[in-house]
Amino acid sequence: MSDTWKTRTKLVHQGARRSQYGEVSEALFLTQGFVYDSAEAAEARFLKTGEDEFIYARYGNPTSRMFEDRMAAIEGCEDAFATASGMAAVNGALMSIVKAGDHVVSSRALFGSCLYILESVLARFGVEITLVDGTDLEQWKAAIRPDTTAVFFESISNPTLEVIDMKAVCDLAHAVGALVVCDNAMSTPIFTQAKAAGCDLIVYSTTKHVDGQGRCLGGMIIGTRELIRGPVETYVKHTGGAISPFNAWVQLKSLETLDLRVRQQAGTALFLADALEGHAKLNGVRYPTQKSHPQYDLAKRQYEAGGTVFTIDVKGGKAAAFKFLNALEVFTISNNFADAKSIATHPTTTTHKNLTEDSRQAAGITPGMLRMSAGLEDAEDLLADILQALDAV
Ligand SMILES: *Cc1c(COP(=O)(O)O)cnc(C)c1O
Repeated sequence: MSDTWKTRTKLVHQGARRSQYGEVSEALFLTQGFVYDSAEAAEARFLKTGEDEFIYARYGNPTSRMFEDRMAAIEGCEDAFATASGMAAVNGALMSIVKAGDHVVSSRALFGSCLYILESVLARFGVEITLVDGTDLEQWKAAIRPDTTAVFFESISNPTLEVIDMKAVCDLAHAVGALVVCDNAMSTPIFTQAKAAGCDLIVYSTTKHVDGQGRCLGGMIIGTRELIRGPVETYVKHTGGAISPFNAWVQLKSLETLDLRVRQQAGTALFLADALEGHAKLNGVRYPTQKSHPQYDLAKRQYEAGGTVFTIDVKGGKAAAFKFLNALEVFTISNNFADAKSIATHPTTTTHKNLTEDSRQAAGITPGMLRMSAGLEDAEDLLADILQALDAV
């Protein structure tokens, strides 16, 4: 292992642990528990007096640990804890640092389940939540108070593709001693700038780009060793949010191709967004590092590319959006994104259905909006598919 390795090398090698058999490919340790040679050895293991002290898969597992070490390394952080899903990671990160009476500030444009954790779960335990327009630094300034303990945002919001000025928000939070939790799912671990901006806990749904082939749920909480092996591990291991070693193995092996896949898919997303701009059947197209994005300058400053998802707003609202979806032949209708298969999602009636109409409007989710996830198919085929489906509207 080398600190000087670049991301692509780390994605293939970092954190690998070989068993006595010298296997080339990282092994799947599908085991819940670990055997001790003696009662004394069991006692010592629970005292954590040596290296690689695995006790129980809910606490840690060699395969999960390889996945954690590799994800921490590509983020440029000291440590990470793998979780059963992206939501287990969001919940674990927030619950491990917030207590009753605390004040949390968050951007309003959030994935529905993230909003649920803030507004329903944390609020139920007496945490005060202030939601702001994440694109407006004045609102962050006004909302963050001396007693604010945590700040939360999606660095690029799902599905509205709003971009958070992470450095500016981190500076405001740190000025009052608040910790910053960044949900980085849309930004991808390849284009991430969360650590450089100062985010304290960086959270991924590894279900998305890391798996990238629509198979397993997974999540990751990344940060300093002090935070990860302190409050985060303690909370997650005792509340059962650990990842399955099988899922960890699938996603660990997926990291080998992550850079290639994400760059290819991001290139396709921009190509499609550019090609669709100004189309007569659309109210608009949005992709973070596309020139017409309202925060283009910030997005360009922050990201080499704006992820693998773009949105279109079909004229004619829900009825037109449904006609479009039903006419697609290459894109599949589903609610995941970042898959090798291109996916189209209608947030209003699926992923963001549980929001009130007001919340959806506040977040900018219109009835004609479709979230388009660019896959690994040929970009020309994808464009032809979208164009023929728009013709059908
Ligand atoms: C998908 C997603 C999640 C949840 O991830 P799961 O793995 O489905 O639990 C959280 N945040 C964002 C921004 C997401 O896109």
